Amino acid sequence: MRLLLVEDERELADGLADGLRREGYAVEVAHDGATALSRAAATDIELMVLDRDLPVLSGDAVCRTLREQGHPMRILMLTAAGTLDDRVAGLDLGADDYLSKPFAYVELLARLRALARRAGHGSGTVLEACGVRIDTVRRAAERDGLPLRLTPKEYGVLESLLSARGGWISADDLLGDVWAETDERGRGVVKAAVHTLRRKLGHPDPIDSAPGHGYRISDLR
Ligand code: CA
Repeated sequence: MRLLLVEDERELADGLADGLRREGYAVEVAHDGATALSRAAATDIELMVLDRDLPVLSGDAVCRTLREQGHPMRILMLTAAGTLDDRVAGLDLGADDYLSKPFAYVELLARLRALARRAGHGSGTVLEACGVRIDTVRRAAERDGLPLRLTPKEYGVLESLLSARGGWISADDLLGDVWAETDERGRGVVKAAVHTLRRKLGHPDPIDSAPGHGYRISDLR
């Protein structure tokens, strides 16, 4: 799931980004409100962690603008002030949830999982094809009823493939969806993750690959 983290305190941003990547989110970081808006316009962000007190453009203004544009992403707003009035103001601006600083990292993760569940990927929380089934809320995967132990990146690849509902996904798209990278030199990591994912999925291999198309998991083969 693609997540944009907007936080001007660099140390906090770096630490959070590392942690969220380990959880399997494809994380991009912006350090000011204007950059956040341009990234949101350029990429398919599903979740945003938005600090309220930001340079250039405030978190409130970012939130309001995104909602005026009808952007469907879920927004979790962070604020230093934890009063009820602030909470209401944040929600009125269109934030989906609110967390006051300082916060416990586990609480942030729990809130994000709840928002991801509400986002529901627009398609429910269980995706299935070729006997492979994932629960996008629990981030759990199974093959023919047997649980799979996947790394966050392997899970991310599998979720992207199943979300495509039988459609092809290019290696570059997977790189963007799962690693939040666009540099084509990163294609090697996609190939490696698909390789280990295939090994864990077992036989028959449910992942089709074709030059010029990429990868897919389709019941119609
Ligand atoms: Ca700040």
